[in-house]
Amino acid sequence: MNITMIGLGPMGQAMARAYLAAGHPVTVWNRTASRADELVAAGATRAATPAEAVAAGPLVLLSLTHYAAMYEILGDVGDALAGKVVVNLSSDTPQASRDAAAWLAERGAELLVGGIMVPAEVVGTDGAYVFYSGPRSVLETHEPALRVIGRPDYRGTDPALAQLFYQALVHVFVTTLAAFVQGAALLGTAGVTAREYAPLADELVELARSSFGEVARNIDAGDHPDDGASAQMMAVGVDHIAGAVAAVGQDTALPAAVKSLYDRMVTAGYGKDSWTRMIDVIRSA
Ligand code: NDP
Repeated sequence: MNITMIGLGPMGQAMARAYLAAGHPVTVWNRTASRADELVAAGATRAATPAEAVAAGPLVLLSLTHYAAMYEILGDVGDALAGKVVVNLSSDTPQASRDAAAWLAERGAELLVGGIMVPAEVVGTDGAYVFYSGPRSVLETHEPALRVIGRPDYRGTDPALAQLFYQALVHVFVTTLAAFVQGAALLGTAGVTAREYAPLADELVELARSSFGEVARNIDAGDHPDDGASAQMMAVGVDHIAGAVAAVGQDTALPAAVKSLYDRMVTAGYGKDSWTRMIDVIRSA
């Protein structure tokens, strides 16, 4: 089956290469046409227009910076979308995915929303997986083809779901990385190298990871008994982190954001509860 790949950033290129390697005919289109050159040399067909790319087969994959690019690219393809399955693997808000499903439905196409959870070099390997949401039957029909880029992890009919899972998990990823960099900057003021600090941070992230199960149990039960890490106790520690960063004149945005969550817990009278009460102040922003 032909695969149409629109959007040839690092991710789109990796996906197109995975399909070529799996023996699929691949049709490509990209706004900057030269980004298709290597893929065409490797056997892909270059479509002259988005309409020609869409017409090439039943499955149209999009890998774009945001959903706005989808409207720019597919806005003028006329009837070409009728009967197609569009798999949009671009990041955006959950509502953008819902709106796109309605927009495509008006043109006779079905949308599968994809949230691809690995970097380009992992696409198409055993370690790759992709959240999907949208019509289950569409995913089931195309599962063998979609499996080429990564294991499908179907999350439900609402188009927003794959995007929600993607954003929630990427948030964990980027915030953890930002906290790691902040620690490196703070220690750097004392001449400590990031290399010396990295294995220690590694161990601490492992400790945080091992507590996710217990934190999740408290959140789901709506019950936050103090198990030795009360909101009040943690608030004091977080205050010290913010103070340490401010004292060396570095960017306080991240510690200040965390401090604000703890301060709100204490102000709300949750100080004696476990810090997992944070879920309530986050929910009530
Ligand atoms: P980029 O976000 O850099 O860009 C992807 C493509 O979007 C390019 O082909 C670009 O075209 C196209 N594009 C952007 N704006 C427009 C527009 N207005 N009209 C037409 N085309 C447009 O690429 P990535 O491959 O890094 O990421 C693709 C998606 O995958 C993103 O949503 C990203 O968040 C997500 N993702 C990325 C990961 C990564 O490691 N890179 C990991 C997991 C998910 P042009 O070449 O002409 O600029």
